[in-house]
Amino acid sequence: MIKMKNFVFETKQMRIECPKCKKTYIRVIPEYDDAVYSMCPHCTNIVALPNKVNDAMESFSPDVYLSKDCKPIKKSDRATEVENVSELIRQMAIKGSQQDEMINAVKYSMVCIDSDKSVNGAYIDVKKAYDDLHISQLFKKYAVRTRSLMRS
Ligand SMILES: [Zn+2]
Repeated sequence: MIKMKNFVFETKQMRIECPKCKKTYIRVIPEYDDAVYSMCPHCTNIVALPNKVNDAMESFSPDVYLSKDCKPIKKSDRATEVENVSELIRQMAIKGSQQDEMINAVKYSMVCIDSDKSVNGAYIDVKKAYDDLHISQLFKKYAVRTRSLMRS
């Protein structure tokens, strides 16, 4: 735990292996801290820290929601829903969400952004992603005034 004047941060320790010099060191980072870099104390190499959200994003493709059983989303609806989920993510960042919740919200935003895509008559099923990723709960919990077009 770090105490600064009026703030108390929960912290976690991370053991990092420097990819350059292969030595390990311990870095203490605040619990809320995501995508951060640190400097290796042995060789001053800049090391990207492992980040659950980034890792989950790298292995995710909105193509998993391609379906022949859904209609294409309207262009204006796509733009609106991209804005809605952007505001959701902004509110989640401000209010401090769990990483798993953030992963679902970012996946959903990737699905919305890609929702104009079609492959061999299959379209991105935005509603299925909305349900699978429990997005309605996130809008209820974090985005007080923003709502999703996909809500039933
Ligand atoms: Zn190093």
